[in-house]
Amino acid sequence: MARYKNFNIAIYFTTRCIASINSLEEFERDFGFFEKHLKCSKVYLETHRDDMDTPKEKLEQLRDFFTTKGMDVSGAITTTLMKTTKVKPLIDETGVFGCGGSILDKSGEVEPPVEEGYQRIWNAFCYTDEASRRKLQEVAEYTASIFDEFIIDDFYFTNCTCPSCIEAKGDRSWEEFRLQLMTEVSRELVVGPAKAINPKVKAIIKYPNWNESYPETGYNPETQKDIFDLVYTGTETRDTNHTFQHLPRYGSYSLLRWFENLKPGYNGGGWIDQWNSIQNLGYYMEQAFLTFFAKGRELTLFCYSWLVDTVYIPPLGHELEHLDQIIGEIGKPLGIQSYQPVHASGEEHLLDYLGMAGLAFEPTPQFPETDGLIMLTAESAKDPEIMGKLKAHLMKGGDACLTSGFIRETQSKGVEEFTSVRYTDKKVITKDYTILGPGWGFAGDYCGREQVTFPGLKYKNNASESLILANKEDNNFPIFLRNEYGKGTVYLLAVPDDFAEIYLYPPEVLTFIRQYLMSGLGTYLEGGPKVGLFLYDNDTIILESFQDQACKVKLHLAGDNRKLIEVKNGKELPASIRKETETIFEIELWPVYYRMFRITE
Ligand SMILES: [Zn+2]
Repeated sequence: MARYKNFNIAIYFTTRCIASINSLEEFERDFGFFEKHLKCSKVYLETHRDDMDTPKEKLEQLRDFFTTKGMDVSGAITTTLMKTTKVKPLIDETGVFGCGGSILDKSGEVEPPVEEGYQRIWNAFCYTDEASRRKLQEVAEYTASIFDEFIIDDFYFTNCTCPSCIEAKGDRSWEEFRLQLMTEVSRELVVGPAKAINPKVKAIIKYPNWNESYPETGYNPETQKDIFDLVYTGTETRDTNHTFQHLPRYGSYSLLRWFENLKPGYNGGGWIDQWNSIQNLGYYMEQAFLTFFAKGRELTLFCYSWLVDTVYIPPLGHELEHLDQIIGEIGKPLGIQSYQPVHASGEEHLLDYLGMAGLAFEPTPQFPETDGLIMLTAESAKDPEIMGKLKAHLMKGGDACLTSGFIRETQSKGVEEFTSVRYTDKKVITKDYTILGPGWGFAGDYCGREQVTFPGLKYKNNASESLILANKEDNNFPIFLRNEYGKGTVYLLAVPDDFAEIYLYPPEVLTFIRQYLMSGLGTYLEGGPKVGLFLYDNDTIILESFQDQACKVKLHLAGDNRKLIEVKNGKELPASIRKETETIFEIELWPVYYRMFRITE
């Protein structure tokens, strides 16, 4: 069986995927579609989802079928029970999303409910209901009795507000209660019982892409990373405009990096599906690329029934073949380290929007150990010791960029020590900007496509210094400032109320912000929004366009004698400009077709 050199591809089988298999002969023919287009080396076979448990004989038959092919086989669990309601819903929602059958499957095969209960979004478990808890433990034990590894799909959350859960919560917040509850459930009902049945078994927890909601729904990476053997990352960002999740596509990269930094070496891989990608197959493939740009070692494709004999797989296989030829060249990812503690929220996915505006990020759940520039957002303020850590960082010569959300969260809690900039309840609406020029003055007026709404920051003249101003009639307001503290520089960045309005900045404004915040990384992009820059510690870089048409950007590299070699063909890209301090390259980009370069002297 053929394998990729640099990563594994796994196919996920839900209970209904497996139930759709009538004979191995027929299935072998159908599965041949994947073998024709991809080098699949692993499958996940689901034992339970919703109302359905897969019979042991069928799991063993399939396990042996794939093992004979030389493929790895793991189990899988989806922690949902069929919805039971005291009031019959008017709309039949069965089979549309959660059950993983055909998207057209509303076949009415639903069996009677396994529990008496209440409506819960996505049919999630009630983890205080004894019958449900017993069921979960039985499923974990059953799965471990057949497989030496299993993964839990990202329905492993709780949103239950039934009387039993309300009583169990007591005076705690839902967040506090659920974080503790799911720690106990993970240890006592899933991993503990599974390992008692099969001491060799490895349990993997797959986290959803909606990381801003983990604490509210009981996902607890802080404790679960040590209870489970591996974590796994949802990298399915899909089409931002057409899903209720509205996740920036850079999230397929940044979340995997965050999990890698949570417990280095324990990230099993990334996971994508085909939802909301049919109108743009590029998004489907891009999710895979970004998973591997972030150093994912395995990619799971959800799921067999939704992908077999479809248009998604041939182009993905074509592009993965090319990616495999070069992705082994990249080193360890680099970027502006941003402190995103566990259980924090506040400026949700801001890094992803800024990442799609050309800043390179390395999010981390620990306060960054670096002498370089760090970015602190509203999330960073979750740490009660943040002010002391920021002070120590600046005193040793590190720089920091504080977002308007961070200032808002820490005002009257110590941020005044570091800057004269204050968050106000005023708003600034503008599409006109001016940028600090040489000497004293501001140089040039730059006009964006549409108006952007910012929080109105105020500051004390000459205690802090404006670098970019939003221009209004006979007045202006700062959106990017700096001042010194200790041995470091503090930058202050006003973030639009709607983060996506970052894409409305004129290219000159974006370029200026990148130039300052990326200076310690030795490179930055000149040009408009929706271009991603991915940096690695061995002088390789990747550029990925998030635009829907061709574009050109200029890549600035520190040093007058830099060369840029395209990895896929070994050709040198001629420099546009060589200056005393930098070399500039003009690079054409197209949607989907990322470009990887090696930087040499
Ligand atoms: Zn409940």
